[in-house]
This record gives sequence, structure tokens and C-alpha cells, in this order.
Amino acid sequence: MSKNAVLVINCGSSSLKFSLIEPNSSKVIISGVAERLLSAEAFLKTSYAGTKTSTRLNPPFDHQTAVDVIVAALYEHNLVEHLLAVGHRLVHGGESYSQPTVIIDAVKQRIKELAKLAPLHNPVNLIGVEAAEKAFADLPQVAVFDTAFHQSMPEKAFIYGIPYKLYQQHGIRRYGFHGTSHYFVGKQAAKLLHKPFRSTSVISAHLGNGCSVTAIDNGQSVDTSMGLTPLEGVVMGTRSGDVDPGIIFHLIQQLNYSATDVDKLLNKESGLLGISEMSNDCRTIEEAIINDEDARANLTMDIFCYRVAKTIASYMASLSHFDGLIFTGGIGENSNLVRSRIVNSLKLLNLELDETKNTEVRFGKSGLISKQGSNNCWVIATNEEQVIAEQTYQLISKDK
Ligand code: ADP
Repeated sequence: MSKNAVLVINCGSSSLKFSLIEPNSSKVIISGVAERLLSAEAFLKTSYAGTKTSTRLNPPFDHQTAVDVIVAALYEHNLVEHLLAVGHRLVHGGESYSQPTVIIDAVKQRIKELAKLAPLHNPVNLIGVEAAEKAFADLPQVAVFDTAFHQSMPEKAFIYGIPYKLYQQHGIRRYGFHGTSHYFVGKQAAKLLHKPFRSTSVISAHLGNGCSVTAIDNGQSVDTSMGLTPLEGVVMGTRSGDVDPGIIFHLIQQLNYSATDVDKLLNKESGLLGISEMSNDCRTIEEAIINDEDARANLTMDIFCYRVAKTIASYMASLSHFDGLIFTGGIGENSNLVRSRIVNSLKLLNLELDETKNTEVRFGKSGLISKQGSNNCWVIATNEEQVIAEQTYQLISKDK
């Protein structure tokens, strides 16, 4: 039996997503998600051959328990013998990793060191790696980093206007995130244009709970809106995006916030949630606009869309030419209202939507939504798992 499938693992603090993918055919054989980990309500949802199942997890309800149940499901369906390798989503690779990397002890050590830059993500990503190592001791484990695609950014885009020695001594610079998604949709756009990726220049707006915009010039990320952490850039579900750093001192010195309070405020209580005082979910805000003509919901949406549009326009300074704009992520793929408000501010970039197409291309569909005569604007459903599977497969096949 040929070993042609990659198990992709994306491990979050209380969730673990997995898919078994045949990269050559893009076929997803089995997939699922474990949620509410580390609580007594932990469960694993699995989808295999058109059947969905949900299993309650046993104590200690942790990531290892979830991986053990996933492994049992792979054995039950005789899928283990197909496995070539395990590919992991790793959030922060710092300047150490611009390519997918086989995880050996030295790599794990470096990922632990980089946890200084991503304390919420790297440690929990490593839990997934270690659980998979235990379950599949004989299989290579590969790390695919969210920051990797942005390692091509020039210094002028990634150095902050603060003393240079903070970069040299402590690695304080802009790294960018969502790289795997921006890379995937950029490559898809190149296919739609029938051009090689290396000569394709697009702007990609990944709008989900986290949101980032990336300028891709001739196939390379040359600027992106997230920075040292995923807090920088546009307004997000609960994150503020860019604010005057002076606000932080004001909160601490005048309003007696602690550093932890400020962290919580900017990461968890701001963005769509903080402005609307209603929800971090774009759907709830849209419903309030459409059904109740709610003024605050409308303002929230305007702020969100204006900030994305401004970022897109600013990337005209980064590109050698402009092949088009891509929307992706939960909001980008589904909200015709958001797309419409953003593109309405970009007429000077010769961008205009065909509103019929804009309304049709939703819910996992991909396609062109711009008017004839306008610059291209596409919705492209992202697929980070496919990239992780492909890159893992290529790396392991090359090494053999
Ligand atoms: P994450 O960043 O966690 O991967 P997603 O990419 O799944 O998140 O995006 C989640 C966001 O997508 C939420 O704000 C949600 O409201 C939004 N979303 C999902 N479906 C729709 C829809 N039909 N209309 C508008 N927004 C939607």
C-alpha cells in the first residue's frame, strides 16, 4: 500500500483540528476537530466517508487524549498504513524558519525559545507535536510556520521606528502571520490569471476572527499588517489592531490599568466586540445593521471596512504592479456586505464589484467578483491544511 497521505495537525489552546490529506489529489480522507479540551465537556467531531460522528473525550480531556482517539479512528478505518508523515501548523518561526522543517530536538528547542515571541501559541503547538510523536514514533514530523511566507519582507517593512538594538538584541521586529493562507490564496490567484506565481502581484485580505492584509509582489510577501504579534494592523474580532501606543501609557498612568489589564483589553475586549458592545461575530453585527438599523453596529462595520481599505490602498507603495485583490477567511469568504463596503472605498484603485457576483460567491465558493473593466477582485476560499500537507509531502519525499 502506498504511503501518500499526510496527517495535518493544528493545535490551539483548547482545540485541535486534524485532517488526513492526500496532497497529490487534494483529497481529504478523514478530518475533524477536538473542542473544549481541558474541560469535562471535551469532545471530538470526526467526518469520514460522508458520516459525521461526535465522541466525548475521557479524562484528562487533554490534547494527548484527543490525539489517542484520532489514532484509534485511523486504525479503525485502516488508514495508518497510508501515512507518510505528520505536518504541524506552528505559529512563530521567528527569523529561524522561512521553509517547512523536519522537527528534530534542536528544532523543538528553537520553537520553545521562540515562545517568548508567541507565548499563547508556540507552547500549545508543541503539545500537538509531542502528542503526535508519541502516537507515531516512526513517522517524520514537519513544522510549517505561519510566519515563514513573510520572511521575504524587506527591512524597510519589518523594522519598527524604535532603537535598532531592540531588533538586534531581542528580535523585536514585524514578523506577520497567516502566511500559509496568504501564500495559498496568492498561488490560486496566479492560477486564475494563468501566470507563474513568481510574476503575480496581489493584495490578499484574510478576514476571520484574526485579520491581516498582505502585499504579495512577484510571488513574495513584501509587507503585511500584523507585526511582532498578531495584535498589530486592522481591527479584528476582539483585537484592536493599530492604536496610538500613547493610549497604553494613558491607561496605565491615568486610569490605573495593569499591564495584564491592557493586554486583555487590546486582545480580548476590543475590535468588533469592543466597538459594537454587541459581539465579535461579524454575522451578529450584520444582522443588527440589516434588521434593526442599529447605528453602533453600522459604525463598527464602517470602522472595520475603512481600516482594511486604507491598508489595501497603502500597499500601492509596496507593489511593482497590481494584478488584483483577494478576499479570504470566514468574513472575507462569506460577507458580501464587508466586501462591498471595502471595495467601495477603493474606486481610485480602479476596483469595482459586480454586486450580483458578490452576492453569489459565498459559503466556500471561489471566483471573480469584480465588474468588467475593473481591476480583478476575487474571493478565494483558503486551505491552510492543503498547504501544510503539500509542503510536508514535498519535504519528506525529497529527503527520501
Ligand atoms: P479564524 O480566524 O478563527 O480561523 P474564521 O476564518 O473562521 O476564523 O472567521 C470567523 C469569522 O467569520 C467570524 O467573525 C464570523 O462571523 C465570520 N463569518 C462566518 N460566516 C459568515 C457569514 N455567513 N457572514 C458574515 N460573516 C461570517
